[in-house]
Amino acid sequence: MIKGKGISKGIGFGKIFILEKRDRKIQKKNVENTEDELKKFKEALNEEEKEIEEIIQQSSIKEKEIMNAYLMILKDPTLIIETENLIKNFKYNAEYATEEGFNKIVEMFNKINDDYMSERAKDIIDIKNKIIDKIFGEDNFNLKKLPQNTILVAKELTTSETAKLDFENVSGIITEIGGVNSHTAIMARTHSLPFVTEIHNIFEVFNNGQYVGLNGKTGEIYINPSKEEENKLLNIQKLIEEENDELKEYKDKDTKTKDGFKVELVANIGIPSDIEKVIESTAEGIGLFRSEFLYMNSEKMPTEEQQFLAYKEVAEKMQGKPVIIRTLDVGGDKEIKYLNLPKETNPFLGYRAIRLCLDNIEMFKIQIRAILKASAYGNISIMIPMISSIEELRKTKKLVEECKKELEEKNIKFKEDIKLGIMIEIPSTAIMAEKFAKECDFFSIGTNDLIQYTVAVERGNEKIANLYSQYHPAVIKLIKMAIDGAHKEGIFCGMCGEVASDSKMIPLLIGMGLDEFSMNSNKILQTRKLIGNLDKKQCEKLIEKVENLESSSDIIKELKNFFE
Ligand code: PEP
Ligand code: MG
Repeated sequence: MIKGKGISKGIGFGKIFILEKRDRKIQKKNVENTEDELKKFKEALNEEEKEIEEIIQQSSIKEKEIMNAYLMILKDPTLIIETENLIKNFKYNAEYATEEGFNKIVEMFNKINDDYMSERAKDIIDIKNKIIDKIFGEDNFNLKKLPQNTILVAKELTTSETAKLDFENVSGIITEIGGVNSHTAIMARTHSLPFVTEIHNIFEVFNNGQYVGLNGKTGEIYINPSKEEENKLLNIQKLIEEENDELKEYKDKDTKTKDGFKVELVANIGIPSDIEKVIESTAEGIGLFRSEFLYMNSEKMPTEEQQFLAYKEVAEKMQGKPVIIRTLDVGGDKEIKYLNLPKETNPFLGYRAIRLCLDNIEMFKIQIRAILKASAYGNISIMIPMISSIEELRKTKKLVEECKKELEEKNIKFKEDIKLGIMIEIPSTAIMAEKFAKECDFFSIGTNDLIQYTVAVERGNEKIANLYSQYHPAVIKLIKMAIDGAHKEGIFCGMCGEVASDSKMIPLLIGMGLDEFSMNSNKILQTRKLIGNLDKKQCEKLIEKVENLESSSDIIKELKNFFE
């Protein structure tokens, strides 16, 4: 048996599929055999061409136009000759020649200082990256089409790779590096996919095609499990299923404490198809639609129409229940290749989410308009991530108003009184909560980020994971400030970070008067059961006790005591 760290519970059986990513660093090399490099370049071009042609076959008219423009770039003799000459005359390796050759043309386009040309320059960069991927051989696997019962093994699985995963056919994930609060882990938990991490020298431990069984809670992995080991795992699986069956009696019930304090119990989703699980869970709405997964699941920027259709689908399926759509929250551990964002030393503190959107207003307005249009078909609200200053909120509100006007001029319907809220996930905003509450309609506390920014511990960094704690007194203080700030101004305060489903924290949050709890849909029923057993007045008393404590460990003890 091999033991790692379980970060998404569940039992999985299947065959290992190794995702071995090569070093993607483009190095300048001088080659002997230029013919080989020319061949690699040509093959990559041909493969890309074939893929684009396939996409064209399945596209709408508008998409066809875009993809045809891509095809023209791909076939452009200037680009091809430039790159081939670098290989022939300078004996450069294919990937370096592609990088240089394409960049030269990009520079030329950018110098022209014309919007159309700079858009084409972006297309060229996009195609360049895809060709380089192909030269590196990174496209030889298709994460969207994996064999049945795959156990995916990788050194590390990025958020965008996970977003593309064929969840139907994956029965488990095993990695060397992975954080319990990373988006990869959050997505695995959403899909009830067992996930074990911290397996050192992973490529030496596993081979392609090996049969394994794993326990995503304990971190146990069995290669070619014996009958006895297999039965042990199957028994645990049976217990999990029984527990889930017992919870079914909480379906379609109100979520309220014994003494009648009612809260909204809603779900987090990443892509529209997650909605099936939400409906099944009888969640009372969507508290967080992480819209960035629409962007991550696509090879290029989703159009206004594509976004509108996705948001509309979710709103309609929720049949009038609240749906909070968070605007693009990219950056940090969420990368989108076609945005070509610069590499940063501190990505979590960098150019991300609302910062990026306010710097790319046209892109942002496409999303806002798509959300507004979809708001005519359900109970949609807009939520802004990573707000750190009041100016960001004001600028966003102005853009929303501009978009409303644009739609009005075209006689396009939308919900005129659509609510606009913000995420409280940066300490500066929690501290200033009262001021923010005067200028927006609701808050949702994003504890995943709030914790990392409060205690200065990167959320996915396992080395310092022991310091990342929702029980830190400062984190608890900030959560309370956010809730109190909202209530002082009469607005509603929810929570959509992972803490919202932490059974130890829930009594404290109920005591603080949190109005809405948003979580993975597979946590909905157990949370409804837990809240139903609480007494609000007793929960209120817990606040006072906790507020007087100085350390996370003392707070954990106190919260555990509450249940004894
Ligand atoms: C959060 O930060 O708590 C949150 C819900 O957003 P995300 O996990 O997507 O950063
Ligand atoms: Mg966040």
